[in-house]
Amino acid sequence: MLKTSLRYSHELLEAVIEEGDIVVDATMGNGNDTLFLAERVGKKGHVYGFDVQEQALANTTKRLEENDCLEQATLLLQGHETVGSILLDKTIKAAVFNLGYLPKSDKHVVTHEATTITALIALLDRLEEKGRIILVIYDGHDEGKIEKKEVLSFVSELPQEKFSVLNYQFINQRNNPPSLICIERKKD
Ligand code: SAM
Repeated sequence: MLKTSLRYSHELLEAVIEEGDIVVDATMGNGNDTLFLAERVGKKGHVYGFDVQEQALANTTKRLEENDCLEQATLLLQGHETVGSILLDKTIKAAVFNLGYLPKSDKHVVTHEATTITALIALLDRLEEKGRIILVIYDGHDEGKIEKKEVLSFVSELPQEKFSVLNYQFINQRNNPPSLICIERKKD
């Protein structure tokens, strides 16, 4: 059966992440992706997680604690647009953005194209060869429609000599299924 965007995103990440890698969860939310990443990189690796909501930080901290993964994580109550100032000269194997708003939470707190693209530029600069950045984009809300258009326009222009960019989406489903973008850095 064809996979949902969320399931496929984890397969695409799992295929490249190894123990000891440095990775980023740009939108922690309830910590599902953060935990997934922390389990893959193990205690020798590291996950940097970002979110602007205290609830997201609290939920993700609890989730990692319960699964003995907190040690390999730095969880930050700050926007992903600051990722460059946190990573400095570190390189990353992977990053994931799950855009939009946190279900069952304040639907006014959403990601925006300008900050998403700022973060993406900083992460692309630090992406290792064969590393991957995933964006899951929802356009069922007004801001999401603008964000999707701008993000797709930005990633479509990435030079094909350096990056492969995949867009995976069901196009005959009701209720605005998300788009999955996967950017892979080619070998130099
Ligand atoms: N991946 C998450 C999970 O597993 O539960 C769900 C993420 S949810 C769809 C989007 C999250 O992005 C929300 O928790 C929201 O607070 C967060 N967010 C909004 N603007 C942000 C920003 N500038 N930087 C980081 N996170 C942001």
